[in-house]
Amino acid sequence: MKTYVVGNWKLNFTVGESSIYLHKIQKKIPNYRDIEVVVAPSTLALQSLSLQIDRHKMKLAAQNAFYRDFGAYTGEVSFEQLRGLVDYCIIGHSERRYIFGEDDKTIQKKVAAALRNKITPILCIGETESERAFGETADVIRDQLMSGLSDVSEEEIEKVIVAYEPVWAISSVKGAKLASPDEIGDAVKMIREILKEIYGAKTAEKVAILFGGSVNPSNAGGYLTVPGVNGLLIGGASLILDEFTDIINVAKRVKS
Ligand code: PEP
Repeated sequence: MKTYVVGNWKLNFTVGESSIYLHKIQKKIPNYRDIEVVVAPSTLALQSLSLQIDRHKMKLAAQNAFYRDFGAYTGEVSFEQLRGLVDYCIIGHSERRYIFGEDDKTIQKKVAAALRNKITPILCIGETESERAFGETADVIRDQLMSGLSDVSEEEIEKVIVAYEPVWAISSVKGAKLASPDEIGDAVKMIREILKEIYGAKTAEKVAILFGGSVNPSNAGGYLTVPGVNGLLIGGASLILDEFTDIINVAKRVKS
């Protein structure tokens, strides 16, 4: 299985800045065949970056899209419209869940819409700090995963990526803490067990599970060696050229 290094640029960079930044990343990294480097710029930049990107080195992801393919949905962008521009879409990021009120049902429909349009969903799940404090981590992981995957068949699940992102470890969250390798290992084990229950052991092993939460070049190697972790989803550090490319190089060193 490939190792994934996914950078989520969130609401940063104009279209011009995105283009310059992409150029700098591409210039700095070699073509690592076993490392899938993905960046998620703003929706507005996807069209132009899709023409600029060297797909041997990197791929594009959308940060969000709407689950209907077309119709009277003012202001939305559909997966169908993104088809051909991106290979991936982040779905269910905690900022979508908690700032924009996306519920499990919405996320479930988005996962299905992505697959219908040949876009790989990166389904984000993870508990908040208070859910962890109340001992609800396992329930939250189970609920979010089962619900997100409700419409995903056995043939489709291999095309889904799951990202475990404990909300309390995301750098932009007030008082964020670093997750320990043990905490990540336990969560990833739970996710893999649930995938086994639904899709069987052999298929479950083929699903990539990423970790996200304050990843930087110093902790990336440790996180990537947690059993069952197949890559990283990176926010803050993906906005800094040297940090992002250092993480890519760490991934190459640790996983090859
Ligand atoms: C994220 O927002 O998905 C994320 C993991 O951010 P950060 O790396 O900044 O914690």
